[in-house]
Amino acid sequence: MSLYIVATPIGNLDDITLRAIETLKTVDLIAAEDTRYSGLLLQHLGIKAKLFALHDHNEQEKSQLLIEKLKSGQSIALISDAGTPLINDPGFHLVKACRENQIKVIPIPGACAAITALSVAGLPSDKFSYEGFLPAKSKARQDCLSKLIDETRTMIFYESTHRLLDTLNDMQTIFGSDKQIVLAKELTKTWETIVSYRVNELITWLKEDPNRQKGEFVLIVEGHTKNDSDIDPNALNTLKLLLKELPLKKAAAITAEIYGLKKNLLYQLGLSMEN
Ligand code: SAM
Repeated sequence: MSLYIVATPIGNLDDITLRAIETLKTVDLIAAEDTRYSGLLLQHLGIKAKLFALHDHNEQEKSQLLIEKLKSGQSIALISDAGTPLINDPGFHLVKACRENQIKVIPIPGACAAITALSVAGLPSDKFSYEGFLPAKSKARQDCLSKLIDETRTMIFYESTHRLLDTLNDMQTIFGSDKQIVLAKELTKTWETIVSYRVNELITWLKEDPNRQKGEFVLIVEGHTKNDSDIDPNALNTLKLLLKELPLKKAAAITAEIYGLKKNLLYQLGLSMEN
């Protein structure tokens, strides 16, 4: 039979789809991260179902058992504590095992904190990079952030109350204090707050009222915007050499052609070199 990957709400319990309810009602078994927590959601929906615990620590071991149940004809839904399973939640090993065993996996889409935050951030959403949680230790966190210095896509991070300020301080150190960040807190819940600040202003805003540091957070961080100083040093060198032999317009055009850059940008750089 089939495995259904069912998204559940990230706060507001009304954010569940009709298909999700129908699926949870009809499957033989619901695999859940925390059976007590998910029991409350099912109770709210008036669903009586058999729950099966599947969390990070037992997923690999229990997946085999679930595969056997699926093979014997049972239908199973996988849910996590909140949002879309597999997105910083268990499920990857199970889905992989289903695919390897030619068992159908059916998505029942719904809430996901990352996409919910991105949809209201007002930062470029055409390309983005989902980064999940950063490491807990500062050194490892800074190493991770250092690798993202040149990331031009909008970046999405999850963060917890305890590490929010440390993470933002590290972002300030690595990305610089004028990095634009949208903080999306407690999405779909009573204290939902969405603010957009430069990282230094955001740290000040959070420190002004410690209550602002409480809750669940998504950080949407603007991608790196290229400026003149990011131009390939080889291109600058070529331009410099060509300028010794050719008029500026020609030197800029040739360099642009070789390095796939904008003629006008190189023309302006050439002008400042000449000056
Ligand atoms: N599977 C979930 C999803 O689809 O978004 C994510 C699970 S991950 C273990 C939990 C993290 O997601 C939280 O620490 C927080 O960073 C983010 N998150 C979940 N619900 C949220 C909400 N209502 N508002 C803001 N962030 C939330």
